[in-house]
Amino acid sequence: MPNLKIDADRLWDTLMETARIGGTPDGGIRRLTLSEEDRQVRDWLRAACEGLGCTVSVDELGNMFAYRPGSDAGVLPVAMGSHLDTQPTGGKFDGVLGVLAGLEVLRTLEAAGYVTRRPLVLVNWTNEEGARFAPAMVASGAYAGVFTPDYVNARTDAEGVSFGAALDAIGYRGAAPVGSVTLGAMFELHIEQGPVLEEADKTIGIVTGVQGIRWYDLVVTGRAAHAGTTPMALRRDALCAAAELMLEARRVARTHGALATVGEIGVVQASRNVVPGEVRLTLDLRHPDSAVLDAMEADIAAFVTGSAFALTPVRLTRIWDSPPVAFDPACIAAVAAGAAAEGLPAQEIVSGAGHDAVYTARVMPTAMIFVPCKDGLSHNPAESATPEHCAAGAQTLLNAVVAYADRA
Ligand SMILES: [Zn+2]
Repeated sequence: MPNLKIDADRLWDTLMETARIGGTPDGGIRRLTLSEEDRQVRDWLRAACEGLGCTVSVDELGNMFAYRPGSDAGVLPVAMGSHLDTQPTGGKFDGVLGVLAGLEVLRTLEAAGYVTRRPLVLVNWTNEEGARFAPAMVASGAYAGVFTPDYVNARTDAEGVSFGAALDAIGYRGAAPVGSVTLGAMFELHIEQGPVLEEADKTIGIVTGVQGIRWYDLVVTGRAAHAGTTPMALRRDALCAAAELMLEARRVARTHGALATVGEIGVVQASRNVVPGEVRLTLDLRHPDSAVLDAMEADIAAFVTGSAFALTPVRLTRIWDSPPVAFDPACIAAVAAGAAAEGLPAQEIVSGAGHDAVYTARVMPTAMIFVPCKDGLSHNPAESATPEHCAAGAQTLLNAVVAYADRA
C-alpha cells in the first residue's frame, strides 16, 4: 500500500467553500436537486475535476461521472461518490462529504503522481434526497435499472415542475443513456446521520448493509362540515382519523422493534371553522428484515380497514419499496482494512438511512463508510461533523479505493 495521505485542511476548506452555494444564514445548505444552486455546485465540481485532468461525463438523468484513467485500460473503474443535493433544511455534510472526499482522493493521487491499476470515477448522483422529487435516490435507482428514465423524468415537484423540465432548465441532461457508464465497484463515504458511532466513540463505521425502507401515501376521506352546526357524533373528521392512524403507526413500530414516521400531513382546503374533510399524509417504515416490514404493513392495512374507519375511509398506497441490502464482502473488507491501516477506532454498522449505494449494490460490488455526526443530527442546518472525522473518513475512502483499484 503506497503512503498516500489526504490533505485534511484542503478537504475542510472545500467543504466550507461549496457550502456557500445555497448556504443559509443558520449554517445549513438549501440546495434542492436541479435548482439553480444545484447547477452552480455541479459547475464547480466539473471545473474541479477537469482541473485534475479528469474527463467529466453526464448521463441523461444528470448523474455526473469524473473519470481518471488507470494503468490498465481494460478493466472497469472503481467509483466513489455520493450526492450534492440537500434537503430544504439540509446541513453541510449529508452527501456532500462523500463527493468532496472523493475529490480529495483524486487531488491526493494527482499531487502524488499516483496512478491506480483500475481507473477511478467520482460520481455525483442526481436527486438523492427525494425532497423536491419523490422518491429518493431516483437517479442511482435508474442507473441500476430499478426505474425507467421516463418514470424519473415524469416526477413532479410541489409546483408541478417535472424532473425532466428541471434537468433541462439547468442544462444537465447529458447524452449518455443512464447505466451506460459502467463501473466495477462503488464506495460511498457518508455521515452516519444517527447517534451510534458517537455513542460508541468510534471514528469509522464499516457499513455492512442498509435497512429496508417503504414509503406510503395515505388519503383519509371524511366529510367537510360546519364547525358550529355539526354535532360531534355526526362528524366524519378526517384529521382525527389521521391522528388515530399516526398513533397506530407508532404502536406498530414499537411492537416490531422497527421505525415508523409520519413526516408530512396536510388538511386539504383547511379552515379553522370547517371539520376536516380530507387529509393527506405520508408514512415511512424501516427495518433490516423484509418480513418485519411485511408484518407492519399488514398491521397498518388491517387497522385502517377496521370498523373505526368506516366513516373515514383510508387509501393506503405504497409508493416505494427499498428492500434491505447486504454490501459486498470484499468491499467491506477493503473499508475495514483502510480504517485499520490508520489505527482508527471502527465498528460494523447497518445504515438506517437510504443511500445511492443501496441501488449501486444491485449492479456492482458496493460498500459504505460512515463517520460520526454531532448528536446524530442530520437533515438539519445544525448537522455537524468534525474536521478530524471528515479527514478520517476521506483517508479510509482513499485506502479502500486504492487497495481495491490496485488488486490483481
Ligand atoms: Zn445523503
